[in-house]
Amino acid sequence: GTGTLSGSKSYMQYVGGKVPLGLKKMGLRIVVTGGAGFVGSHLVDRLIERGDHVIVVDNFFTGKKENLLHHFGNPNFELIRHDVVEPILLEVDQIYHLACPASPVHYKYNPTNVVGTLNMLGLAKRVGARFLLTSTSEVYGDPLQHPQVETYWGNVNPIGVRSCYDEGKRTAETLTMDYHRSANLEVRIARIFNTYGPRMCIDDGRVVSNFVAQALRKEPMTVYGNGKQTRSFQYVSDLVEGLMRLMEGDHVGPFNLGNPGEFTMLELAKVVQDTIDRNAEIEFRPNTEDDPHKRKPDITRAKELLGWEPKISLRDGLPLMVTDFRNRIFGDQ
Ligand code: NAD
Ligand code: UDP
Ligand code: UDP
Repeated sequence: GTGTLSGSKSYMQYVGGKVPLGLKKMGLRIVVTGGAGFVGSHLVDRLIERGDHVIVVDNFFTGKKENLLHHFGNPNFELIRHDVVEPILLEVDQIYHLACPASPVHYKYNPTNVVGTLNMLGLAKRVGARFLLTSTSEVYGDPLQHPQVETYWGNVNPIGVRSCYDEGKRTAETLTMDYHRSANLEVRIARIFNTYGPRMCIDDGRVVSNFVAQALRKEPMTVYGNGKQTRSFQYVSDLVEGLMRLMEGDHVGPFNLGNPGEFTMLELAKVVQDTIDRNAEIEFRPNTEDDPHKRKPDITRAKELLGWEPKISLRDGLPLMVTDFRNRIFGDQ
């Protein structure tokens, strides 16, 4: 655009929200914040494959250029090193907002969820883009309802060690709905449950990446607490399909996007043993504070309104991730 910060209009506004048929083939202009990360880079792959023009905005806090190297040189792809806590001017049709320090090890240090989300909403408002927020199952806290339905308001400790993530995402949801109501912004909200797959950070402390890396390195798998707490693990390609259906669909949400297959951490350790090394050992460690006891999505809403459900079970998805981890941990040995 050629306008000023407040004055410029998006292409979508100029054409009255309708893309002329001939131009649709050229694809949409899409921003993916956090696109150099685990989920974001898989989403970028799908969008590029579909023929869209993708701009990744990422400060490489946990993301890596390596996740996107295969798109360098493609004229439909741009990578901008930028912290979304600072304002940015772009002209686009859709924004997938994934930027977030996503692991407990990192998320304490950054106001991305609040200030970054506000900036991306401001950007979406200025150019009339559709905005999708990747929220999290953590908004349910240590849930008193099982499985979790989108209408459940959650049980979150506002002053605990995890709260800057939980409450940060809850605030991000609030901001998103406020912009939707007051500025008439088109928004979408996904509540993502634990997701795993290739390109996951190896050492960011999440349970699937920890167990897989430990088993490969012949170190004991560290089970926190008694290992009876549960999580439901979704393979990354299922999530990406859900995010795209949500963006393209007619419903704001929030939508739970997760795999309802529920496992205790001890059961997960068993699946990792079966996949990598039957003799892999387990070592118990004290659990972290405020660790949710149970988590499992009710995905009825996504099934009915998005026609979406996960296709890949933990036992089928884990080997795909193990191949990637093996390559990254052992290089070309
Ligand atoms: P990730 O850490 O791999 O990706 C996050 C990306 O955001 C990274 O590339 C990081 O560099 C970037 N980033 C962080 N702060 C930024 C900032 N201030 N400015 C610009 N970029 C910034 O994590 P992921 O697993 O791919 O998560 C993606 C999104 O999905 C996050 O919003 C996360 O909260 C959400 N989510 C993920 C899971 C999961 O299990 N993976 C579960 C629930 C929600
Ligand atoms: N913003 C941005 N890019 C834009 C438009 C806005 O980064 O293209 C930021 C802007 O700097 C502000 C935030 O988004 O901090 C919210 O913008 P909005 O216009 O909604 O609020 P206002 O600036 O009126 O308080
Ligand atoms: N966990 C574990 N061993 C590890 C890392 C995590 O037993 O090495 C447990 C953790 O206590 C929690 C569960 O695995 O109960 C999921 O933790 P993660 O950080 O992966 O995700 P989240 O708690 O955000 O769902």
